[in-house]
Amino acid sequence: MIVGQAGFSIQGQKSLGRIFLEYGCGQGSTCGPRGACVYTGLAMSCIFCKIVEGSIPSKAVHQDELSYAFADIDPKAPVHVLVIPREHIAALSEADESRKALLGHLMWVAAEVAREQGLGAGYRVVVNNGKNGGQAVDHLHLHVMGGRQMAWPPG
Ligand code: AMP
Ligand code: ZN
Repeated sequence: MIVGQAGFSIQGQKSLGRIFLEYGCGQGSTCGPRGACVYTGLAMSCIFCKIVEGSIPSKAVHQDELSYAFADIDPKAPVHVLVIPREHIAALSEADESRKALLGHLMWVAAEVAREQGLGAGYRVVVNNGKNGGQAVDHLHLHVMGGRQMAWPPG
């Protein structure tokens, strides 16, 4: 059993799903000395900040000083990886001009992940934004999905 910093306990994937439902994300965090988020305000409850920090487990796929990529807990394709900034940004629409280079970097990481995962036959990168965009976790993330033929249009 792993006990998270917020005092909740994690026992396998089923519990992670419950945490996903119980913990939304909020606004604001800054990078700590070793790249981990230092939470402020509502970002203290952000599940993806906790994944970056390591207090919620994840299967790492790729990481660097700006980003972290990990396996989606509920994959919608044979390969389904989430690429996130280490910094808490609630959504694509919340990224201001000062984050332009970071946004480009995340897209580059998505392509790197696809190469590393052997998705040469093609793949899809998706960013859900806001309520109507179907965003469930309020920490910017790029879905990298592949390993099967994707349908169009998406639902
Ligand atoms: P979205 O609907 O675009 O906000 O996507 C959120 C994604 O996060 C979904 O595909 C979930 O399966 C995934 N997810 C939620 N909690 C976790 C977790 N603890 N570890 C990995 N992926 C997660
Ligand atoms: Zn966050």
